[in-house]
Amino acid sequence: MHKDIATPMRTKEILDKYGFSFKKSLGQNFLIDTNILNRIVDHAELTDHSGAIEIGPGIGALTEQLAKRAEKVVAFEIDQRLLPILEDTLSPYPNVKVIHSDVLKADVQAVMKQEFEKQEDVMVVANLPYYVTTPILMKLLEERLPIRGIVCMLQKEVGDRISAKPGTKEYGSLSIAVQYYTKAETVMIVPKTVFMPQPNVDSAVIRLTLHDEPPVKLKDEDFFFRVTRSSFAQRRKTILNNLTSQLPDGKQKKESIQAALKQAGVEESRRGETLSIEEFAQLSNALYPYFH
Ligand code: SAM
Repeated sequence: MHKDIATPMRTKEILDKYGFSFKKSLGQNFLIDTNILNRIVDHAELTDHSGAIEIGPGIGALTEQLAKRAEKVVAFEIDQRLLPILEDTLSPYPNVKVIHSDVLKADVQAVMKQEFEKQEDVMVVANLPYYVTTPILMKLLEERLPIRGIVCMLQKEVGDRISAKPGTKEYGSLSIAVQYYTKAETVMIVPKTVFMPQPNVDSAVIRLTLHDEPPVKLKDEDFFFRVTRSSFAQRRKTILNNLTSQLPDGKQKKESIQAALKQAGVEESRRGETLSIEEFAQLSNALYPYFH
């Protein structure tokens, strides 16, 4: 039996062997606690017929645990310097494929088609680079990849915003964007001590489970997201004032917005943060004819 990658000693050994220095600009904070990794992987509920996609394998700490539980793992890593290291550390796991690529530029859809022909389900599992967490999550969701869900480590504050409920200060357009596609839960709070180097911020693990059906019926998805973003443009303003200043100019704009609010049963004086996804759906459907 070889030693797990995710221990402080083995990680130091690997970093020393290759003279690797962390790049802060790439969000490189590696996990050095096998116990935490196992708990993260538990939340993904993988079987030996599952596929797993990892973003940013680093030196392979999480990849290794995924390789033990999933049938196949595909990992996207941007940092060229990590490729020879991964080839070495992951050599006991023939079911892992590492792709050298910026995941934001990768054709993940095509990779999935090619690599996960046989797997029954695919989960994304990652300790995300914190500087690009939101763009990565939104890319994965907006591309409507055929995945079951996502389990990922991120900055706790971003996790709080993603899983926030209406009426809280964390609730905003990010909560709505993610909750439109998935059921979002924070499943773990993680101490800084399990990373090398330790990050400056607190971390959490969230689980996103894709909805089978969208939770609301929309006339136009893009317009719905536009309305939600507009409603949060200035958090202290009422929904009427935000929409009036943000939506495109047209004939009797304010009156049209007032009529749509009335039709959707939303009082003009409310703030965006108090509206549920269902209310935003009704509102954007009522506004749609006035702006198209
Ligand atoms: N999975 C490893 C672990 O848990 O120890 C490393 C996680 S570290 C927080 C983030 C990893 O993402 C680093 O290996 C970094 O090089 C990689 N990365 C950063 N930006 C990326 C991008 N745009 N596409 C793919 N990988 C990226």
